[in-house]
Amino acid sequence: MLPTQYRFASPSPPIPPPPPPRGLRNMLSLRPKPALFNPFFRLTTSGRLRRTGAGGAMRAMDAAQVFDHESGASEELDQRARLKIAIVGFGNFGQFLARTFAAQGHAIIGHSRSDHSAAARSLGAAFFRDPHDLCEQHPDVVVLCTSILSTEAVLRSLPLQRLRRSTLFVDVLSVKEFPKNLLLQLLPPDFDILCTHPMFGPESGKHGWTGLPFVYDKVRIGDSEDRANRCRCFLDIFAREGCRMVEMSCTEHDENAAEIQFLTHTVGRLLAKLDLKPTPINTKGFETLLELVENTCSDSFDLYNGLFMYNNNSTELLERLELAFNSLRKELFGRLHVNLRKQLFQSPNGGGSPGAEEN
Ligand code: NAP
Repeated sequence: MLPTQYRFASPSPPIPPPPPPRGLRNMLSLRPKPALFNPFFRLTTSGRLRRTGAGGAMRAMDAAQVFDHESGASEELDQRARLKIAIVGFGNFGQFLARTFAAQGHAIIGHSRSDHSAAARSLGAAFFRDPHDLCEQHPDVVVLCTSILSTEAVLRSLPLQRLRRSTLFVDVLSVKEFPKNLLLQLLPPDFDILCTHPMFGPESGKHGWTGLPFVYDKVRIGDSEDRANRCRCFLDIFAREGCRMVEMSCTEHDENAAEIQFLTHTVGRLLAKLDLKPTPINTKGFETLLELVENTCSDSFDLYNGLFMYNNNSTELLERLELAFNSLRKELFGRLHVNLRKQLFQSPNGGGSPGAEEN
C-alpha cells in the first residue's frame, strides 16, 4: 500500500546538463552495434521525450525539463532514448555506474544517506539530500544502489507516491532473490521491476566493461510498448558498453553467485588476514593472489556481509569450504604420518623402539 501522507517539498535545485560529450561521437561510432539499440524515443526541441513511430504516445510530459540544452551528446542521443535515471545509494558503486550513464548522455540524479553533492557535480549530476525532492523529479528509472543490508530501510523511506505511476525500478544488488521479493512486496503494482547484477565493479571494470557479464531478470515489465522500450533502453546502456548480457532468473543467479562471488570474496578476505607482501621472486600465481586480495578488499565489508546474509546458498558454501580445508589438511598430515612411520621402521635402529609402534 502506498503511504497516504503527502507533504510539499522545498524547491529542488536545477539539474545540471550532462557532462561534455567526452568524445562521445567517436565512442558511439567505434562501439559494436548494440544488440538492444532501439530508436523508439526522440527528444523534442523543448526537451521532452516523445515516442516515435505509430501511436506516438508522449512520455515524461509532467517531468522537470532537464534536457533544455543542445550538446554533442544530446544530438547523438536524439537517435535513441535518453533516460532520467535516479541513483539511490550514491556511494562507491552508484558513482561508478553514474559515470557511464552520464557519459552516454543520460540525465542523472542522485540521493544517498551522506552528502555526495560534490561528486555528483563532477559527474554533471544533481544530488538531492531529501528523497522527496528526488522523487519529485519524476525519473524514468530508479536504480537502487544501496548496500544489501540497508536496502529494505532505504526503499521503505522513499516517498513512492511522489513518483510517476509508471516508474521502472532497477536494483543492482549482488544478491538477487532478496531484492526481487522485496520489490515485489513493497512497490505498487504499476511499477516495473528489473533485477540486475553487473558482475564487475570499480576495480574489475576500471578499464571498460567489454566482455564483462551483466545479469538481468525482467521480474515485472508492463505489457505496453512504452514500458518494454524503457526497459530495453536501460539494458541498452550496458549492451552499448560491450557487456555480455545474460538473462537469468534471480534464483539461478544466487545459486551460481554463491560459488562465483561469495567464494572469491571469502578467499580474498582470508588471504588478506595473512597480510601477504610482494617479494622480489613473485610467481604469476602469487601475483594473482595479491590481486585477488586487492579486488575483494576494496569493496566494503557491508557488501561481503550482504553476500553472506542474503544468499541462502552462502552458508552451505562456507561449510563446504571448511570441510574441503580440513580434508586437505588431513590428507597432508596423513601422508606425513606414513612417511614418518616408514623412516622410523627403516632406520638402522628401526623397529627397535617399542614406543615407535605405539605412535
Ligand atoms: P556498499 O557498502 O554495499 O553500499 C554503499 C551504499 O549503501 C552507499 O551509497 C551508502 O550510502 C549506502 N548505505 C549503506 N548503509 C546505509 C544505511 N544504513 N542507510 C542508507 N544508506 C546506506 O558498497 P557499494 O560497492 O557502493 O555497493 C552498492 C550496491 O551495489 C550493493 O548492493 C552491491 O551489492 C552492489 N554491487 C556492487 C559492486 C561492486 O563491485 N562494488 C558490483 C555489483 C553490485 P552513503 O553513500 O550515504 O554512505
